[in-house]
Amino acid sequence: MAFELQSLPYGYNALEPSIDAQTVELHYTKHHTAYLNNLNGALEKHPEFFNYSIEKILSDLNQIPEDIRTTVRNNGGGYYNHTIYWNIMGPNKGGEPVGTLAAALKQAFGDFASFKKDLEKTGMGRFGSGWAWLSKKSDGSLLIHSTPNQDTPLAEGLFPIIGVDVWEHAYYLKYQNRRAEYLSNWWNVVNWEEAERRFVSGQ
Ligand code: MN
Repeated sequence: MAFELQSLPYGYNALEPSIDAQTVELHYTKHHTAYLNNLNGALEKHPEFFNYSIEKILSDLNQIPEDIRTTVRNNGGGYYNHTIYWNIMGPNKGGEPVGTLAAALKQAFGDFASFKKDLEKTGMGRFGSGWAWLSKKSDGSLLIHSTPNQDTPLAEGLFPIIGVDVWEHAYYLKYQNRRAEYLSNWWNVVNWEEAERRFVSGQ
């Protein structure tokens, strides 16, 4: 069974004005879809991996045959990262973290404003393309970090709770070179209920 594109949980214009409709449409129908198609194309050469979950594939890339490993790393990562990105955003979201995640964030980073500042700084510090993440370590503690390109926290033994795409394709139409403004507006669409669900369930 080939991997499939999860339907977008809201309309293209649902994240306006923080993220414009044209960006969401292109990002989902072109970029995300291309990662998916390239992943499936590569795995056709080694179809036994269609029986694996995407998490299992990305958690140990050394198990992937060398002839498709880089393609799977980049495009499997792109497929997985974007699925998280769409799910941890939504219309009429934003506000403050909820539940056990709120308490864990407070313990790890102090107040919410400090946490936001740290994550934005991490996103600004990513030279070129990549992601800024809040991830959970195997001991349950929280970490802010960045991955280049479409590398995933899974490959580092981390479980991503929320992640913000800092590739230019995620913001350039509306914000041009102003990544900082995209990052500061991004908080308005973060779905903290979904972040809490991810934190608690580890899925
Ligand atoms: Mn992207």
